[in-house]
Amino acid sequence: MNATSTRILIHGASGRMGQALLRLAAEQPERYSVVAAVTGRPPAQRVVDGVPFFAAAELAAVPAFDAAIDFSLPEGFDPVLALCRARGAPLVSGTTGLSEAQRQALAQAAEGIALVWASNFSLGVAVLAELVERAAAALPGWDCDIVESHHVHKKDAPSGTALTLGQSAQAGGAQPRYASLRAGDIVGEHLVQFAGPGERIELVHRATNRDIFARGALHAAARMVGRAPGQYRVRDLLD
Ligand code: NAD
Repeated sequence: MNATSTRILIHGASGRMGQALLRLAAEQPERYSVVAAVTGRPPAQRVVDGVPFFAAAELAAVPAFDAAIDFSLPEGFDPVLALCRARGAPLVSGTTGLSEAQRQALAQAAEGIALVWASNFSLGVAVLAELVERAAAALPGWDCDIVESHHVHKKDAPSGTALTLGQSAQAGGAQPRYASLRAGDIVGEHLVQFAGPGERIELVHRATNRDIFARGALHAAARMVGRAPGQYRVRDLLD
C-alpha cells in the first residue's frame, strides 16, 4: 500500500461495476488501495490479487478505510450506509433503484458523513442534464420523452439516469414521460426528445464502456476524504 493512497472499500465487488472498479484501482496503486471488497454472496476466494474479500454478512469485520464505493443493489444499500455512519467514513454510491425511504435515510446520514449519490458518474451525462434543462425552458408546451436502453440484466426501470434527466427537464418546465428498453449488452443509452408542431429535437448520450462510471466514482472517492458532512454532487468534485 502506498502511504498517500486512498484506502477504498468496494461494495458490490463481484458485479460488472465492482470488477471495473477493482481493475482501475489496481492500475493506479499510487492513488488507490482497495482494503476490502464486499460481495453479496460469500466470495469464492478470500484474497484476489492482494485484495481481501468479504461477504455482505461480514461487513462489520472490514478493516479501516478512507471511503466506501457502493455499486450493489438496493438491498445492499442500507448496510453499507450504516457501516459508513458507524465508521464516520464518506460514501460514494451509484446504486440505482433506491426506495423513497432509502433516499430519506441518505439525506439524514448526510448530517453526519460526506456523501455523494449519483445515478450516473459520467461527465457527458452531467453536461446532457444541463442541455436538457435549457431545452425544456426554451420550448414550453413541447412534448418531452425520455427513452433509456440498457442490458437485459438491469433490474430497475426507468434507469436512475433517466429519472435524473427527468428532474432536469422538470426544472426547465417540461413534463417528461419515460420508456425503457432492456436488450442485449447495452451499457447505457439515454435519448431525451422534445417534440413540437412540425419539428423535433433529440439529445442523446451513449455509454459504450462502463469504465467511465468507475473512473468517476474512484475520482469522487478520493475527493470526498476529509470533507465536511453533507450531500455532494459529482460536479462539486470535478477538477
Ligand atoms: P451487478 O448485478 O453486476 O452487481 C451487483 C453486485 O452487488 C454484485 O457484486 C453482488 O454480489 C452485490 N450485491 C448484491 N446484493 C448485495 C447485498 N445485499 N449486499 C452487498 N452486495 C450485494 O450490477 P452492476 O451492473 O455492477 O450495477 C450495480 C449497481 O450500479 C446497479 O444499481 C446499477 O444500476 C448501478 N450503476 C450505476 C452507475 C452510475 O454511474 N451511477 C453505472 C452503472 C451501474
